[in-house]
Amino acid sequence: MVTDLTPVDDELTAALAGECDRQRETLSLIASENYASDAVLAAQGSVLTNKYAEGSPGDRYYAGCAYADEVEQLAIDRARALFDAEHANVQPHSGTSANLAAYQALLEPGDTILSLSLSHGGHLSHGQPYTMVDDVYDVAHYGVDVETGRLDHERVRERAEAVDPDLLVSGYSAYPRQVDFEGMQAIAEAVDAVHVADIAHLTGLVAAGEHPSPVGVADVVTGSTHKTIRAGRGGMILCGEAYADVIDRAVMPGTQGGPLMHNIAGKAAGFGEALEPEFDADAAQTIENARALAARLADRGFDLVSGGTDVHFALVDFRETHPELTGAVAETALEDVGIVLNKSTVPGEERSSTVTSGIRIGTPAITTRGFDAAATRRLADAIADVCDAPDDDGVREQARETVADLAEAHPIYA
Ligand SMILES: *Cc1c(COP(=O)(O)O)cnc(C)c1O
Repeated sequence: MVTDLTPVDDELTAALAGECDRQRETLSLIASENYASDAVLAAQGSVLTNKYAEGSPGDRYYAGCAYADEVEQLAIDRARALFDAEHANVQPHSGTSANLAAYQALLEPGDTILSLSLSHGGHLSHGQPYTMVDDVYDVAHYGVDVETGRLDHERVRERAEAVDPDLLVSGYSAYPRQVDFEGMQAIAEAVDAVHVADIAHLTGLVAAGEHPSPVGVADVVTGSTHKTIRAGRGGMILCGEAYADVIDRAVMPGTQGGPLMHNIAGKAAGFGEALEPEFDADAAQTIENARALAARLADRGFDLVSGGTDVHFALVDFRETHPELTGAVAETALEDVGIVLNKSTVPGEERSSTVTSGIRIGTPAITTRGFDAAATRRLADAIADVCDAPDDDGVREQARETVADLAEAHPIYA
């Protein structure tokens, strides 16, 4: 399926085949990446890409939607079952699109959003400079405690009282600890703000019961469908009946036109897989692997933001232990040996976001490949070796062999 690419033209075929080989032969530790199943790939590559279906199942602006209705209803029903949600909108094209729709549903232009700053682990779509969110709304940020790397709810509350936001955002891109959604809801209520919980990174962990759920706690829950849940690239919104109409109208026509029905088919397939019992075990293994990786790196002398992890990734802070090493240099050296991960700012960062002083190391994709804690520790050693001596050719050669070995022992898209 994956390699059976119709040769549209030689250049495109070669590039797609190259990408397929790259995914097989390298190890992705990018915390936001995963491998979609063959069923999800098939659904996303299906003839539904041809179909216009503005509206919702049974209530469309286009003719010929009988099967599109069936597909979208499956995705909705499975999302509601997975997350125990009263209402699910599965049309957002991405996590960012889901957030834009949530803001439009809940705010007027000029209203105030309070969110975590980017360098502390927030996301662009939470209103960072240069985004449309920042142009349309008044955005203020809170931070983590730079000593502990953790959110201090007392300080978030003080910040919320000072800013008096209309909307509080919880849920992050680079926060390696559990998010206390109930605590954040209490802060939102104390300042009379609505609360959007963005579980883009946590979708699969929440679905599996491996992370507390904000559904039924926060006013609106947004998320992506391709990170810790393997339902193909896309977004979704979950909420109670009280918000269902305003959310649906904000998705279409508020912020989007025709839904990507092929991707909605992918969501139906991936959510179906996530309802199987094996999915919960995979989510638990993802966290166990992240803990094993963090512990091994700590043993090797690296500093971890917050001292460890409760979720699917660890955040390494080079400042104390490897002051000369930047996230950018580590990322490039590791990519050269087939370990693909991303540089990351760390709380209190002084380098720019293109240089940084840390790396984020995620385990969702390697867990999908079948890694256990022992294999993850072997990989952690290779990462530590390269970070300790990024310019040493011998070290790189050895790491390259470890990667080849581990990739072969844990094949993907065989
Ligand atoms: C990844 C992410 C998103 C969504 O990203 P898209 O690339 O637009 O799907 C939204 N919020 C957070 C916190 C994220 O980490």
